[in-house]
Amino acid sequence: MIIVLKQNAKAEQIEKLKEWIHHIGIETHVSVGQTHTIIGLVGDTTQVDMDLVSSFDIVESVKRIQEPFKNASRKFHNKDLVVDISGVKIGGGNFQIIAGPCSVETREQVTYVAECVKKSGAGLLRGGAFKPRTSPYAFQGLKGEGIALLEEAKKQTGLPIVSEIMNISHLPMFEDVDLIQVGARNMQNFDLLRELGKINKPILLKRGLANTIDEWLMSAEYIMSGGNENVILCERGVRTFETRTRNTLDLSSIPVLKKLSHLPVIIDPSHALGHSEMVKPMAMAATAAGADGLMIEVHNNPTCALCDGAQSLTPEEFDDVAKAVFQLRPFACKYNVHKN
Ligand code: PEP
Ligand code: MN
Repeated sequence: MIIVLKQNAKAEQIEKLKEWIHHIGIETHVSVGQTHTIIGLVGDTTQVDMDLVSSFDIVESVKRIQEPFKNASRKFHNKDLVVDISGVKIGGGNFQIIAGPCSVETREQVTYVAECVKKSGAGLLRGGAFKPRTSPYAFQGLKGEGIALLEEAKKQTGLPIVSEIMNISHLPMFEDVDLIQVGARNMQNFDLLRELGKINKPILLKRGLANTIDEWLMSAEYIMSGGNENVILCERGVRTFETRTRNTLDLSSIPVLKKLSHLPVIIDPSHALGHSEMVKPMAMAATAAGADGLMIEVHNNPTCALCDGAQSLTPEEFDDVAKAVFQLRPFACKYNVHKN
């Protein structure tokens, strides 16, 4: 971290600031230029509050050199992380499509969709059992029963399963869930993230509705700093002024994250766009841009879905998208992170 001081900074004020910095356990290195004095902070500055530093009268600007996330940073882990989800790998050149219904509704629905998406090449089955709905009157998911039905579909197809956790007290029910999803609404539920940091199971961390990439990486840091290093990031669109789509799909997060972090990045065009006919172009764009995978909602009968029918593909539509994506995959952008 570098602090640039105002031109009129007095020696005693500089000493006071230095003392304050030393007090929080950081060394300083002062260089006096012709017009400005600069203080370089030496040591682990992850816990230094930049706003507090800026609030000193004599401070003109503060710049971080080292990102506040360490575990999630490419600087400390140059090699791409490969996450192994019960034998299915994502990251480091391994590409997977996670597909399935928004919500688990019935045994027939989830096993039928599972069989279909597997045939089309999906590597993992998704299905919500605990649903974070805007309205408390909307379908909230089948909860424990939904997880049990997902497990049945897993037995039948061999596909590892992905489901969202909303409350850490539900963790015992997720014992046979292979990849635990933290949804957009819980991206900054720090207590939940900390608890998930203590378990030995991969986590799919979705980007919050209105969160920056740095905030997202700090949430990954919450999980990783607890010892659970297997985190996959999932971009699902952010809120903007645009109303034609459910969210705005920030595909630029792919190259940004590839530069900043070694964690795998997957894209969810279903929640980003909100309309089934718009899923294919964005699934292809995300693949071309070098995503490590996709998450796509598929329903046997979208018009009757209990949740997110408008954005859900039929199994036939999914097959068409998967074919296009797998054809495109060999031409996808590869990131030469060593250049950065
Ligand atoms: C979901 O994947 O079903 C979901 C609720 O997504 P998000 O958290 O991205 O809204
Ligand atoms: Mn959904």
